[in-house]
Parts: sequence; C-alpha cells; structure tokens
Amino acid sequence: MFAILKEKAFFKVFIFLIVFVISYFFFFSQTKFFTIPRLKFADLFSVLSYRTQPLPLNLDKIKVIIVDDASYRVLKKSWPWPRTKFATLLDKLRAHPPKVIFMDFVFVGESIVPEYDTIFAEAIAKSGNVILASFLDPRGRYTLPFDLLTKKALAYGLVNKPRNPDLSVRSSRLFIVPYWDTKPFDYSSEIKLFCKYLGASLKDISYDGRHVVIKSGNTIKALIPVEKNGTIPMHFRIKLNDLDPVPFWKVYNGEVPPETFKDKIVLVGATAEIFHDVYHSPIGLMPGVAIQTNAILMLLNSDFINYIPKSAELFLLLGLGLATFFFVYFFPPSFALLFSFIETVAVLGIGFAMFLRNIRFDYFSAVFVIVVTYLGISIYKYLSLWIENLNLRTLAITDGLTGLYIHRYFILRMQNEFERAARYNLYFSFVIMDIDHFKNVNDTYGHQQGNVVLKHMSQILQAQSRKTDFVARYGGEEFCAILTHTNLQGAVNYAERVRRAVEAYEFPYKPGKPLKLTVSSGVVSYPQYKTEKMEGLIEAADKVLYEAKHGGRNRVCAAGVSQGPNAEDSQK
Ligand code: GH3
Ligand code: MG
Ligand code: MG
Repeated sequence: MFAILKEKAFFKVFIFLIVFVISYFFFFSQTKFFTIPRLKFADLFSVLSYRTQPLPLNLDKIKVIIVDDASYRVLKKSWPWPRTKFATLLDKLRAHPPKVIFMDFVFVGESIVPEYDTIFAEAIAKSGNVILASFLDPRGRYTLPFDLLTKKALAYGLVNKPRNPDLSVRSSRLFIVPYWDTKPFDYSSEIKLFCKYLGASLKDISYDGRHVVIKSGNTIKALIPVEKNGTIPMHFRIKLNDLDPVPFWKVYNGEVPPETFKDKIVLVGATAEIFHDVYHSPIGLMPGVAIQTNAILMLLNSDFINYIPKSAELFLLLGLGLATFFFVYFFPPSFALLFSFIETVAVLGIGFAMFLRNIRFDYFSAVFVIVVTYLGISIYKYLSLWIENLNLRTLAITDGLTGLYIHRYFILRMQNEFERAARYNLYFSFVIMDIDHFKNVNDTYGHQQGNVVLKHMSQILQAQSRKTDFVARYGGEEFCAILTHTNLQGAVNYAERVRRAVEAYEFPYKPGKPLKLTVSSGVVSYPQYKTEKMEGLIEAADKVLYEAKHGGRNRVCAAGVSQGPNAEDSQK
C-alpha cells in the first residue's frame, strides 16, 4: 500500500518536472525577466574567454586610427571638424597605401564651406579605397553621406549595431531586411570592407537564405552564416587597447611612420568623450570602432559561433532536470547536494570548453533547471516527510477506537501541566469519568455494541469540552480531562454538564430502542488539593470517583480541600 502511494507520488513529481521544463523552455525563458539573466550569464564566459585566450589571429592586419580626446584638443576643439582634416589624413596615408580604409563617420550633408567637400572628395577619389558610414535611424530613415563624397568613395555601408534588451551589443548586423521585403536592403560596412579586402566586387555579395556569400567569378570567397534578420552572434576577443590605436593627430602631423598602415585594413573611429560613441559589450564598454574591429576579425578568421539546435537544448534541459530529480528524489540530502553541485560544475565546465570551440548553448537555463529541480524536489521531500511524521505522531498518541488521546500521552500532558502549575502558581483541574454498569452493555448487547457506546461517549466528551481542555481515554470505559485554568467549581460544572449530557443521550442500538446510560465522575483541583506529585492528583480523583460509585452512581464527587494528604498545611 505504502509502495503504491510512493509510486503515485513519484509519477506526479515526474510529470510536474517535465511540465515545468517544457513551459520554462517555450515560454518563461523567452520573457524579459529571464532574457537578461540568460544574456548576462553567457557574458561571464565571454569575459573568461577574453581573459584566458590569446589575442585572435589577423589582428596585425588591422590598424585603428582614433579621434581621441588628445586629437580633439590638438587639432580643433569643435565638431564637426572641417572635412579638409580628413582629406589631409587620407593624403598622409596614401604614401604607403592601406588595402582599404573605413571611416566610421557619417558625413551627412554639405559642408558650410562647399570647397571643403570638393577637397575631401578629391582625396577620397585619389585614395580609391575609402568606405564611408551610413546609418539607418530608429524611424527607418536611411542617412547617407553627402552625395559628392559618396560618388568618390568605394562604398558606404551600415554601421547600425543591434542591441539586446539590456542595451548591450552582442551581435553584428550584416544586412538590413526592410519589413516589406525578404531580400537584404543594404549590407553593413564590415561586410563591404571584408569584400573589398578579399578583392571582390560589391556586386558579388549575395544572400542565399542562410549565408551571406561573397563570390569572385565562380569561386566562393566567403560563406558567412547569418540569421534571417541579418544578424550574426558576435565574438568579443579584443578591447580597444589591444588594437594599439594610433591617435588621429599623430597621423595628421606625420608623426607615424606611414608603413604602419601599408596593406592594412584601416579603421578611423572616434573615442573622444564628446562623441558618446560607446557601447556595452559582454567584455565591457567599448567604442564603436572596437566593436567593428571585433566583427571584422570574426570575418577574417571565419570565427563564427554556432548555437546548438533548439531541440537539442530542450533535451539537454530535460536530461539535466531528470538527472537532478533522480538523485535528489532517491538519494540522501547530502549526496543529492553533492551530485547537483557536480552536475552544475560539469555543465559549466563542458559549456566553457564548447564555448571555446564556438559551440554555445543556454548556460543560464541549464543551471536554472538544475537549481530549481534541486530546490523543488528537496522541499517536496522535506514537506512530505514532515507530513508523514505528523501523521505518525498523531497515530502514536491517539486511540484507534475513540480518536481520543491514549493513556501514555495523557500521563505526559498531566506531568507537564502539573509542573507548569507548580512552578508558575497556576491552577488546573482533573476529572476522571467512568461509565456506570458498562459491563452490562457488553454482557447484554455484545462487545460490538459496547464499542459503539464508547465511540459515542467520546463524541459527547468532545462536544462538551473546550479547545484548551485535554480529553483522553484513561482506560477501558474510563475517560479523563485536564482542564487548564479551571478551579474546582469550574471543573465540577464541567463534570456535571457531561453527566447530564450522557443521561440525556440516546445511544443508538436498534431503531426506536436506544440505550440509556449514565456516568460517574471524580473531580480534583490543583493547588486547592495539595500534593507534591502529579500521581497524588490521580489517586485523589480515583478515590472520589469510587465515592461517587458508592454514593449511587450518575453523580459528580469532588475532592474537598480537607481531603488532601497535606490538609493541615493548606489550612494554615
Ligand atoms: P461500574 O458502574 O462500577 O463502573 O460498573 P462497570 O461494569 O462499568 O465496571 P467495570 O470496570 O467492572 O467494567 C468495565 C468493563 O468495560 C469491563 C470490560 O470488559 C469493558 N471494556 C473495557 N474496554 C473495553 C472496550 O474497549 N470495548 C468494550 N466493548 N468493552 C470494554
Ligand atoms: Mg471502570
Ligand atoms: Mg464502569
């Protein structure tokens, strides 16, 4: 019987666990409440990877020029700078030309002095390898560089950076798909720059539904896996300082050996504080140009991230949940804790090893399922044990026939009550009740009928007692009550009430032929009745019960003050 019950509980918990994992996976994990912790948790791996892994390959192929605070101070303390400054920069670079130059500035509209634009456009044309930035603003307006510049540039490309709900950048946008179309509307500056770096034409960039493809003739030069929305999860393997950036003013003043940039990919970006061009990333704040460099390094190294399929992730969560469930349910608590801990460490360890091999899954959810399962099952186990213990305790101290407390428990309570009263000067009473001529019931109507009477007797007693009264089956057909905070008169009233109730009660026997019975009681009150030991009270009550029986039954007798063994003391 017990085993079946346990099996049923096991099954219920098992089903509950599966429902929990599935609903978490499909619904809760997608809510904002869980999305951010999931992202932040994965960031820990990015930080750990950044701290422990060597800098990526091909870092030497990229050189970054920054308009930093010093450049801003040295060259001109207002923005926008005259575009001739950028023209000068390009002129300096041209001595030992870089492979391709990307300028992370959106040169919107005409300059105040139109001549500046002519000069800049000329410099762009002479360089022949300049890519400018364009931007799709949040209202869907496409902001392009000034027409004259665009015409001379190699290309312009998007610099939009997709952000997660916590405003951190974790992916790169390779292209934008407008809502009215399924084809890319325009590609990012990184893709165009990469295309130029590979020596392919911008016309050779295409999208096959799963990849951005860069071809040269019939050979595929690059195959970049991309999501339907045009984004790609990003690796953050470098920070700005790892790039050893060159300040704009140094190049401008010719203080940098021009070979520095020869055949490199050169990015020109801003880090000066006034630009506010900083973004949150998994490994910390970084300027836009550092984000771009990370994205370009990914492309150069084919360093693409794979997420395990959704179905595999669901099975992983179910597996972890079930393993935790199994151990916590069937093994002792310390072992369950140890196992859950090892399981968590293993998930994180394997997770990080996979992370380093560019395979990722949802680490947070894996740990979350383990922890919630561990806590849930532990609490469930603890609660059911507690309830079982409560039931056992109740079973151990109650009488099966009447549901009243048993004699042994009565003695404990009586001892307790007596000591409390003696110590704190409290008073209480004790009543013992014995059914009159009960033997006759057994002899005349049988033992079964006797039992029915005893059950009804217990109901009468419970109905007549208060919550604070303690009622027990003292022995065969004897009952007793401990009445806390009740003096002798109160106790006599109680016994009298019971006596009358029993006298009036019709114990069921046969329809139209009930049994009539009476009860006799002995009442004693402490400390009115002086005694050193609790047993003295019981003896005294027994004695007066005997008097009640001899006095003719169906009556209440009380132990008077003078009847105690220490009568003389109490009279003093
Ligand atoms: P008195 O008025 O003097 O108390 O007479 P009595 O017959 O009630 O006294 P006695 O104590 O001699 O009889 C008690 C009887 O109760 C004896 C016993 O067979 C019966 N008895 C004790 N426990 C049970 C029980 O659990 N069920 C039944 N049916 N009878 C019981
Ligand atoms: Mg008796
Ligand atoms: Mg009796």
